[in-house]
Amino acid sequence: MTKIDEPLYVAISLDIDPDANSAVEGRHDTLSFPIEHGKVSIEACRKGLQRILECLDFYDIDATLFYEARTAQMLIADRMDLPGLSERHEVACHSLKHEDFLGKVSGMPMDEKSIDNAVTEAKGILEDIFKRDIKGFRAPYTRINRAIVKILEQTGFQYDSSETIAMGKEWKGGPFPLEMFDSNLLELALPSFYDAKGRRMSSYLWAIFEGRRVSGDYIDAVLWARSIAKGGLFVFSIHPWHLYVDCQGNPFNREQVQKNWENLEYILSQLKQMQEVQIIRQDNYLDQWLQL
Ligand SMILES: [Zn+2]
Repeated sequence: MTKIDEPLYVAISLDIDPDANSAVEGRHDTLSFPIEHGKVSIEACRKGLQRILECLDFYDIDATLFYEARTAQMLIADRMDLPGLSERHEVACHSLKHEDFLGKVSGMPMDEKSIDNAVTEAKGILEDIFKRDIKGFRAPYTRINRAIVKILEQTGFQYDSSETIAMGKEWKGGPFPLEMFDSNLLELALPSFYDAKGRRMSSYLWAIFEGRRVSGDYIDAVLWARSIAKGGLFVFSIHPWHLYVDCQGNPFNREQVQKNWENLEYILSQLKQMQEVQIIRQDNYLDQWLQL
């Protein structure tokens, strides 16, 4: 089957989790910086999410929202109308409390039962809040293993979006079954690629906000993807809080915040205008692919 007439598909995904969060030694869940305070905050997440959703409306873009279930509950308790604001978008799951499932930082890998409980509870909370099926999952720190994948399959998820695939010449950007985890669950992977100087980068936009990347690096990657993988999916990801605070939780000054929004808007407007590029929700992309 030829994909020559198809566009390159681009997904805008949001990982909606606590401000400047980090895995912590000795606990499964995440904390916001400074971790000594033992708290999670959602102030920057709230501001960033509100404005990104307005921005997506302005550009008429449907996105995929990976909600950490606890963050969704906190935002609602803070009187944010998440179901209303998320209406046009896909709602997907980003764990319960941003668990360090593999125990890389906590030093305490979670057993199957605890992972199952966390995933099931998170899915239930999101289905309750948004009154719809939750099909997609992105793991905290994008780290999955065999147990997690098995649980996702058993819990009724349709796809995972945690893996990263290097965008070489062979890259096609389509879904693939997670065979390396002995599973048929489909993966919509995040791409990694090289900038003009040959430095490797990911499609997470945080590096722009941290001043380590320019928007052109990402636009170039999409143009390259378009030239090699018509019909494939290029997934962008954004943390809403990152428009306002850095990875360490330090607030950006007003000029930097302004610059962050300009960069984000520039990327969205460029993507919108690009020939042979179509922005799509991850669930809709998958449905379309499954019907082919
Ligand atoms: Zn996250």
